[in-house]
Amino acid sequence: MTIGFERGAIYRPPFTWEGGPTLGPDEDAFTMAVGAIEALPGRSEPPLTPRVHLVGDFPTLLEWALPEYLGRPVEISRHAGGAPGLLSALQEAASAEGDLPYLVLAVDLGGPQGPRAAALEFGPNPAPHPPEWTSVIGIEGAAALAGDVLTRAGAVPKRVGPEAGPPWAVDRAASFSQTPAAQVSEGAYVPRARYLENLSSRWRLEADRCGACEHSTFPRRGACRYCGRSDRLSTTTLPRDGARVVAATVLAKGGQPTEFDPQVEALGPYGVVLAELVPGVRLTLQVSDARPGEVRIGDSVGTRLRRLYPMEGEWRYGRKAVPMRA
Ligand SMILES: [Zn+2]
Repeated sequence: MTIGFERGAIYRPPFTWEGGPTLGPDEDAFTMAVGAIEALPGRSEPPLTPRVHLVGDFPTLLEWALPEYLGRPVEISRHAGGAPGLLSALQEAASAEGDLPYLVLAVDLGGPQGPRAAALEFGPNPAPHPPEWTSVIGIEGAAALAGDVLTRAGAVPKRVGPEAGPPWAVDRAASFSQTPAAQVSEGAYVPRARYLENLSSRWRLEADRCGACEHSTFPRRGACRYCGRSDRLSTTTLPRDGARVVAATVLAKGGQPTEFDPQVEALGPYGVVLAELVPGVRLTLQVSDARPGEVRIGDSVGTRLRRLYPMEGEWRYGRKAVPMRA
């Protein structure tokens, strides 16, 4: 089997600060990598490869969070950032794994072109014009390198972020701290076990599809919510984009669940919507990449994995609604 570059995508946060691109207040290397994976062209499913090479400064929580997001165990190799790290990842993959598919996730948090992440999938169905690896040596920045590789491969990356609409200004000074607080107030405590419960539904939008009555149950709970049967269930993934807003509100100070206190302190009120993903499946989502009140009933929204709140020294993540601008 020959392994080659199959597809790739670059994700850039849609935020600006003082005229330049910047990380959004609820974004980090993990959410950007997920953004790149979900922007991969072609198939709607994330890559199935069990081998992932991380290039750049990814938080340690990816050791468990990435398998959780992908929905299966993965072998993770870490590499330094920039072009040297990317080359080392490619060399290691080619020599150690030979004919096995793999995924490269590269992140560049503060390059001259702003923060961005790239997802590059290598597998048995290579793109018709493979990248010329020898020509990329010496280019600074893994994401820049990835972009160059993609261009050479003739695979125009699907970009999400600024192209999706006007850049959304964020005041970095008012952003969340990059280091989550270890202590939270008693009332704000969300047990880790509860957070990990149903993560496949909340991160990947997995639902139980009932073969008896054709309804979808979300979040998954092992039995059909409509007919009660548990013997005809199969796993289905709800669409990430195109949900219809059926209710919208803005939570101001005092109205938020206590785990969101630090966010409201730092950033002020935020929007919340009830969105219908498919007929009969509605989900309450915090709104991101938009001003409070900007997303209204009838709007179409996408869902993105973002930071929710810090808890026990770690950021917790979930899907939020983002406007789908024409
Ligand atoms: Zn049913």
